[in-house]
Amino acid sequence: MPSHHHFSTRYLSASDVIDMVQRKGVEACLHGIANYIHADFLRWGAFDKSARVASHSRDGVIELMPIADNQTYAFKYVNGHPKNTRWGLSTVMAFGVLADVATGAPLLLSELTLTTALRTAAMSAVAARALARPGSRTMALIGNGAQSEFQALAFHHLLGITTLRLFDTDLAATAKLQANLQGTGLRIVVCTSTAEAVRGADIVTTVTADKTNATILTPDMLAPGMHINAVGGDCPGKTELHADVLLQAQVFVEYAPQTRIEGDIQQLPADFAVTELWEVLAGQCAGRASDAAVTVFDSVGFALEDFSALRFLRDTAAELGMGHPIELIPELSDPKNLFGLLHTRNPLLRAAA
Ligand code: NAD
Repeated sequence: MPSHHHFSTRYLSASDVIDMVQRKGVEACLHGIANYIHADFLRWGAFDKSARVASHSRDGVIELMPIADNQTYAFKYVNGHPKNTRWGLSTVMAFGVLADVATGAPLLLSELTLTTALRTAAMSAVAARALARPGSRTMALIGNGAQSEFQALAFHHLLGITTLRLFDTDLAATAKLQANLQGTGLRIVVCTSTAEAVRGADIVTTVTADKTNATILTPDMLAPGMHINAVGGDCPGKTELHADVLLQAQVFVEYAPQTRIEGDIQQLPADFAVTELWEVLAGQCAGRASDAAVTVFDSVGFALEDFSALRFLRDTAAELGMGHPIELIPELSDPKNLFGLLHTRNPLLRAAA
């Protein structure tokens, strides 16, 4: 007889993750998630990878992002609806699961909205550490919405950025970002256009939301040695860079089969040469060719980053004793007698009978 297995799924609510980030600190969480992402990218070959599954509608997209190694399976549910902020909803909302590959048992169910912002910023910093010119100190930050503080702090703490040049078409968003960054030591310069913001910047982060082929950056704005962290173009028909920016740069991606569909490179032919970032991190490919080269990280968000972030949440929750067991899966004394639950377990059904 096989031994009787009991497991419970742990649940981390949005409040739990807020509490976790407050207890550890944003900087430690960004460092922690960046370390988990870096470590998992070095194990690239160990993962069963696929481009995410997207369901498109008029104003947005809902996506499922699965990935597994031989022990752990993860998925994230995430949407992208740029008009949502008008109705008081977030553009991006997410949750996800870690499961045991050996049994299929779901082990962790977690909020991933706040976590997505942390992991996206951590990913951007991991890429920039490998690609930006050493000594980069000034970053332009175009798009000052929900993701922007996380990008600012990741580049401050993990890259050593000391000056931010901000632009958003929404002045209130820039004012919110500036207020949230008070006391961090970052020097803030508020600009009146993207062209002004990118002047003198070592790194340019674009993290705008608009369901259109935008041209936030045009070739005239490029300067030798610039690193572009392009985060907001992440869906078919939703891009941020003029195609000529990409043609003048070395382009690095997370997972090419997904980025060719969703990234800024969707504008270019399918054989446009790109390098997957893991190859640079693993020392298998060169990063920037010279101090004068322009590098682009065409970020779209890949399932492995959420796998890493969920591992970080699981380990940190264990360390801090956080989270609650939830009954996501029924517990059975005889696993073949699922129907028996209906006689014995459910008081509502018994009352109705
Ligand atoms: P948000 O709606 O909270 O903020 C977006 C900001 O961009 C808004 O303040 C808006 O005014 C500004 N904006 C729009 N058009 C602009 C323009 N032409 N010039 C300057 N600013 C402009 O959205 P968010 O949650 O911060 O997400 C930003 C983007 O990042 C979204 O497109 C989202 O899909 C994407 N995203 C990507 C990843 C990834 O892994 N690559 C992860 C999360 C979010």
